[in-house]
This record gives sequence, structure tokens and C-alpha cells, in this order.
Amino acid sequence: MSKNNINCIGVMTSGGDAPGMNAAVRAVVKTACKSGIDVFAIYQGYKGMVEGGDMIKKMTSDDVGGILHKGGTAIGTARCHRFRERAGRLVAAKNLIERKIDNLVIIGGDGSLTGANLFRDEWPGLVQELLENKEITKEQAQRHPLLKIVGLVGSIDNDLSGTDMTIGADTALRRIIDAIDAISSTAASHERTFVVEVMGRNCGYLALFSAIATGADYVLIPERPPVDDDWGKSMCDYLSEGRKAGKKKSLVIVAEGAIDKYGNQIRSTDVVSKLKEHLKVDVRLTILGHVQRGGSPTAFDRYMSIVLGHAAVKHLIESTGDNESKIIGLQKNHVTELSLTESIDRTRSIAKYIKEGNFDKAIELRGGSFNDELKTFKTLAQAFPSTETKSGRKLNILVLNAGSLAPGMNAAVRTAVRIALEGGHNIYGVKNGFKGLAEGDIVPVSWMEVEDWASEGGSFLGTNRMLIEGKDFYEIAKTLEKWKVDGIIMIGGSTAYVNAYRMLQKKNDFPAFDISTVCIPATINNNLPGTDFCIGSDTALNNIVDAIDKIKESAVATTRTFVVEVFGRYCGFLAQMGGLATGAERVYIHEKGIHLDDLKDDVKMLVKRFKEGKRLGLVIRNEFANKIYTTAFVSALYEEEGGDVFDVRQAILGHLQQGGKPSSFDRVLATRLAAKAVDLLEKQRDDEERQYYSLGLKEGQLVVEELDRLPSQVNMEYFRPKKQWWINLGEINDTFK
Ligand code: ADP
Repeated sequence: MSKNNINCIGVMTSGGDAPGMNAAVRAVVKTACKSGIDVFAIYQGYKGMVEGGDMIKKMTSDDVGGILHKGGTAIGTARCHRFRERAGRLVAAKNLIERKIDNLVIIGGDGSLTGANLFRDEWPGLVQELLENKEITKEQAQRHPLLKIVGLVGSIDNDLSGTDMTIGADTALRRIIDAIDAISSTAASHERTFVVEVMGRNCGYLALFSAIATGADYVLIPERPPVDDDWGKSMCDYLSEGRKAGKKKSLVIVAEGAIDKYGNQIRSTDVVSKLKEHLKVDVRLTILGHVQRGGSPTAFDRYMSIVLGHAAVKHLIESTGDNESKIIGLQKNHVTELSLTESIDRTRSIAKYIKEGNFDKAIELRGGSFNDELKTFKTLAQAFPSTETKSGRKLNILVLNAGSLAPGMNAAVRTAVRIALEGGHNIYGVKNGFKGLAEGDIVPVSWMEVEDWASEGGSFLGTNRMLIEGKDFYEIAKTLEKWKVDGIIMIGGSTAYVNAYRMLQKKNDFPAFDISTVCIPATINNNLPGTDFCIGSDTALNNIVDAIDKIKESAVATTRTFVVEVFGRYCGFLAQMGGLATGAERVYIHEKGIHLDDLKDDVKMLVKRFKEGKRLGLVIRNEFANKIYTTAFVSALYEEEGGDVFDVRQAILGHLQQGGKPSSFDRVLATRLAAKAVDLLEKQRDDEERQYYSLGLKEGQLVVEELDRLPSQVNMEYFRPKKQWWINLGEINDTFK
């Protein structure tokens, strides 16, 4: 990094706390220290800035050790009335100038960032006033003519326009779905009606996405109020239809900012009253409150915050253009610089449109996939397919799971089944992947059968890694002819893709293969082309991060290095991102190879760090990183060379990575991709086309690719995409050492 005449950097967290703030602070401090720039933590946000003294402390890399996995913010946050007044900001400016700080990284919500921008605008005037009052010297005034601001958005509501995700939102969603999953099982046992209130004053993100992820029945959000005047009655009619159709429970999710179409607030207690009044049932209300803010950040909140924190310091060092305040956010899975004022203005205009009742405009500005998700949710939550006449020919569709288990497969099948039935089609489940397809093991799947599948891990249809060959083709063709199949939705990993590709190659030999096929990427390894994320990989990453947190905690009283082996086959995604999210000292992946010289350097580096006071080391190795330098070998080498400086423990995480309930991200991804798959089959029908496609989420967009491109996109020997978007992110971690 080139040093851009930069003085000191101050970093602070402000406003409401959000999980992931610590990861961002850690990245800012470490990146600054590595770049030779002094960095100060301003404790308790603007309060610390105004109070000065010990509230503004110089940091070293070691000061931010051991905070990555913690929720909340280690440097504190507060609300500060004095900073809202110019007099308070004048004192704050003096405190910064005394420490030579004229670059700030502010991690907070729109209030904190607005305050920061105002401070920047006023800065030259504040400096002038301090000089006139003789509170600073002329040299000091000349040295700090401008204040530079970079904001990172810490907000669990995911409410800032312009960035796809805010720090803390993914974790909040995790807390919510964990709670709702638990509530759902008790609700179903007692056939009860539950109302759950989640956060979101002007933003229905948490409510809508948790409703999709948990298979809730009804959602109330600020951006799209119920259309009926008597919203309570229409909600109750809707829910009782579900009960009549066989739903065992009713679950209503209410955003705290929910309103009716006239802008009157709908409180969760109002929802309870309406349910009691119209349905005469026992209703339980759960207001999740601060549970949503708390706890350890998810893998995503950790690695996103690290990437953004690192980019914020880089921006301060490298940007030479105007002095406009920027927000560093994530757009289309890329780090992006946004104008702070524009983002805040757009965010505030959403609240304004909601207030004015211009809901279409509010939804439009929410951007991304919000509106599509809302529509998909409404279809999925119905009691049965709508009875209106469907256009187009009725299709016979098969849905199957293939390859190793990926959490989220059931959510994808559920959506495929319901969206297909809603479209008026016949849809059948194939048991046990391609084996079942060859054996003709096909079962009808009904609307109500998949009711509870959104949140369940495993694969109810069954899956395996069988690759088709020889007479399998003939058997599969027989099945397809028997069931008069028009299209297949294959949800799985490399097995699904390779088998689909093999069928495509045999299209001329078997006319039955001349159908429409859509592959949906589902594998924890995240090794498929045409997508940034595969269903299941986020769950596995979180499983890894949770396990490593526990492993690390087991070693408090020793000096120890852990060598942890993770899944991934020949793809280093889990190892690399797991390493970033847990602060590993070293990550070994097949893509980058393992070399003896590296191993020697790595051990030397660790010994040196331990001698300087380090107490815990972490090394992550992808299972197939190298045939010779196995996990046992690496562990033995570290043990031997670590001598009496540290001891070594090996941990092979194994199948715990594949188990458990899918993460909210995987459930939502599964839902989006499966809905799109049915859409694509219908489009092919309308275009009289019969193609083999794969689907994916690339740069934030759903994308469709032709499957015959597979060999050009994939390294077939090691089955992984030729381009991996995450491959260089590990370098950030390397610079922290
Ligand atoms: P959030 O950042 O989470 O939106 P707040 O809106 O409470 O939280 O803002 C946090 C702090 O930021 C406030 O206590 C205040 O010190 C400062 N702040 C917020 N808005 C402004 C403003 N318009 N002008 C000056 N300071 C502000």
C-alpha cells in the first residue's frame, strides 16, 4: 500500500451495536498497523470523541486480539447528545487534532453516519474557531485542514440503501430463525397460533426473509401493508384456510414498523387481538427484542466486516480524489464505495415514501430481489395452489437431489413443488437421486407434504453420489418416457452437474433426454460454476466457524496450535473463508498447494509469534490440499518444530460440517433458485425450447447458464470453477500476521 500523506486514523463504533462490529474494528486496526499508520480507538462513539482523555486510545494489533468471535462491540458504543450540538463537535475536533487524527472510520447506522458527514462539512470552520480561541496552534490548524470520513454500516435491520448487506443483519436473521424454528416445533405440537415480532422500524427485511426461511404463514412489513381495510379479518380468513387445508400451526411474523395501508401502526399486540377476535383461538406472542442484536456473529458477518474494514483503511490511504465522505459497502458481492450523503438520502426517502403511502416507490428503492421474494413468499404461504386458470401447457416435472448432502436441499424441493403446483403442473419427487431415476423410484409430492420442509436439514427425497454410465442411460430414458417427463429440476453438487452433462451428451442416442433440465447448485463445497454460492456452503461455513470457536475456547490455559481439517474436496472455499472468519494464522488449500518451504516459514513464523506472547495458533487445512502433506503430517511437523514453545492438536471436523438446519442464507438461496427453476421450465415451454441449464447467484443476480459450457468453466480434473471469486480474500488475513 502506498502511504497517501495520511496522519492518524480514528476508528469507532456508534449508535446501536451490531454483531460483526468487532471484526470490522479488528480489520481497521490491523490494516492500519501493518501500513505503518497510527490508529486510535475512540471508545463509546461520539461520547468518547467529545470526552477525550482515556476514551481515545492508541491501538496495536494485539489490542484487537480475541474479539473477532464476540458479539456487540469491544470498544463500546453510546448515544451522545453533546455531539448533536456544534459546541460538542468543536470539543471533539480539538480532541482529534491533539492526537493528529484527521481520518475516521465510523461504524454505525444512518444517524451516526449523518453526524459524521456533518462533522466533516463543518471541520474547516471548527479548526478556524479553535485557532481563533487559541485552543490549537497555527501549525496544528495547517496540518489538519480537512477531515476524511469513511463509514461502514453497522445495522441489524439491513436498511441502508446502496449496500446489499449491513454489518449484523445476517446474524440477526440467524437469531430470528433459530428462535422461530424452536417456536414452530412447540406450535405444531399444540396446533397453536404464534405471533413473532422482529426488529425493523422502516425496513421489512428481517421479517420477510425470516418468514421465507421458516415457512411462516403471514408477514406484516412496513413496505407492503395489507390491501384490505379490515386487515385483521383478511389475515384471519387466510390463516383459517391454511388450517382447513391441514396446516398444524399458524405463524405470523410482524416487523416492529408494520403499518396498515393508511399508515397506522400495526403492533404485534394488535395482531394478537385480531386473531383472538376472529379465530377464537389461543394466541402466543413472542417479541424477540434484543436477542436479535446479541451473540456471536455469523461467518458472513465476520468475513464481510473484515473485508470492509480492510477496504476502508485502503480507501483512506489510496484515494486522492475529492474529500467526499464515503461508505464502503457490498454491492453485487463486490466491495463498493458509495457516496455517504446519497446513500443516506435514498435510505431516508424510503421512510418518507412509506409515510406518504407510496409503497411501490418504497419497494422499488429497496432494490435487489425484495419484491420478487415478497411474491414468492406469498405463493409459498398459501394453503393450496390458487384455482385461477393457468395459461400454457401443463408440464410433467421431476425434482431430485443428487450428490452429497447440502443443507437447504429440502427448502429447494419445497419451493419447486409449490411453485410448480401453483403453475398448474404435475410434479413428482425422485427418491435417492439418479439411482432412483434409473430405478423409476418416483413419488408424487403434494402441497401439504412439503409444508415443514423449509427449515429442515438433510434430504427428505434422499441423495447419493452415483454417477450414471452404461445401462443407467437406458433405464433413465425408460423412466422419463413412462412419466412423460417435460423437465427435471436437479438440486445437487458435481454429481448432478456431471450426470446432467452426460445426459446432454447422449441426447441424440436417447430421444427421452430431449427435455428441459435445470441444475440448481447445492453442495457445501461451493465448487460449482456459474454461481458465487451453492446452497449449503453458508451452513457448512457457519458449522466450521462455530466448531473452531469451541475448539479455541478449549485451550485457554495452554500455548497451543490447532490444525483443523475441513471439507471442500479440491475446492478451498470452506478452508479459506473459514480461516478468514476465525482469524487463522495459515490456511492450506489445493488451489495454492503446500510446499515444504512454506511449511518451514509458517512454523518459524508461529514460533516467533508464540515467543512474543501469542497463546493460541490456528491452522486450517482443506481435506485434499496435498496428498503427501496430510493433516497428520502438518500436525506432526508443527509439534516437532514447535518444541516446547507450543503443543499441537489436530481436529478433523468431518460430517458435522454437513449437518444441522440450513442457515437463513441457504434457505433463502434455495427458495430463490428453485422458484427461478420452475420459471425457466415454463419459459422453455413457451419458447418451445428444450435445453439443459444451470442456475446460480452471481454478483447478487440470479443467472442462467447453458450446461454444455461445463467443461470450459470447470477444472474437470479437480472439479472446481476455473474462476473463484474468493481466492484472493485470504491475502487480507495474511497481511494481519
Ligand atoms: P444509529 O447510528 O444506529 O442510527 P443514532 O441515530 O442514535 O444511531 O446515532 C448515534 C449518535 O450519532 C447520536 O447519539 C449522535 O451522537 C450522533 N448523531 C446522530 N445523528 C446526528 C446528527 N444529525 N448530527 C450530529 N450527530 C448525530
